Amino acid sequence: MHLHAQQSHPPAPLLTLNALDTLWLQVTGTLCNLACRHCFISCGPKNDNHPFMSVSQVAEAISGARAKGVRDYYFTGGEPFMHPDIFRLIDIALDAGPLTILTNGILIGADEAARCREIFDSSRHSFDLRVSLDGTSAAANDPIRGGGSFEKIMAGIRALADAGLNPVLTVTEVDEATPESREKFRTLLAAAGLQRPRMKFLAPFRIGREERRGRSYERFERLAEGDLIEGEEELLQCASSRMVTAKGWYPCPILIEESGARMGGTLEDATRAIRLDHPACYTCHVEGVSCRT
Ligand code: SF4
Ligand code: SF4
Repeated sequence: MHLHAQQSHPPAPLLTLNALDTLWLQVTGTLCNLACRHCFISCGPKNDNHPFMSVSQVAEAISGARAKGVRDYYFTGGEPFMHPDIFRLIDIALDAGPLTILTNGILIGADEAARCREIFDSSRHSFDLRVSLDGTSAAANDPIRGGGSFEKIMAGIRALADAGLNPVLTVTEVDEATPESREKFRTLLAAAGLQRPRMKFLAPFRIGREERRGRSYERFERLAEGDLIEGEEELLQCASSRMVTAKGWYPCPILIEESGARMGGTLEDATRAIRLDHPACYTCHVEGVSCRT
């Protein structure tokens, strides 16, 4: 299968699915309470191209994936906590295996944080949260994530900290990163009550809204056969995971709005090998993006 209709480039690497370890679920599709300028899938309050998944769609996908040996689950969106049945979905996933939710934290108040803490304490599988923020002040964050978002996201982080949870902060570095800029996030989290801050720093994918904010991929930013270094194939997210949305199955969470990326309507359809011919695959390669980063 081809992820991108580019005829004039040399053949891209073909990647087979090693073992399906991880299932990503786009539980709220492309609907989000923010419309960040760097969002690589152009999520926002008005983008319902991928709608919310129903409880039965989530349960069916998890059950099918579990039968294929999937060991852990990720909820993303859009904003997962916009889903009216989010806590039911969490129960379904945690019944099957460890769950991580990627959220902007805005809808997490004291009640939601307390509920997450109860789940954290009672689940036999691990439960983790990643909260995204892109600056250590409103002046740095809000031009990217929207006016007022810094304060709202920090309120969500503080609610989780007050409940005794320690979410991972995820930061997309649209500008050049320095050790000092990263240290500022550590200080911010410590001030919010997280004494052992956990952070992930991510490179932007130059597609979706980020393409309009920043720049498009250059012509040379494509993978060709032979470009992947030894051992890299197994580390790429798409070597061991797949993404499901209300509209079907995709190779990864990055490409759900890209033409040609849909692999089909069933998990079986999504187990085929993929050709890494989308320019975003170049970012995974040069930045070492994997499920573990
Ligand atoms: S980057 Fe995340 S929080 Fe921002 S619009 Fe996209 S999905 Fe929503
Ligand atoms: S964008 Fe990255 S994770 Fe997605 S198919 Fe390409 S290499 Fe794999």
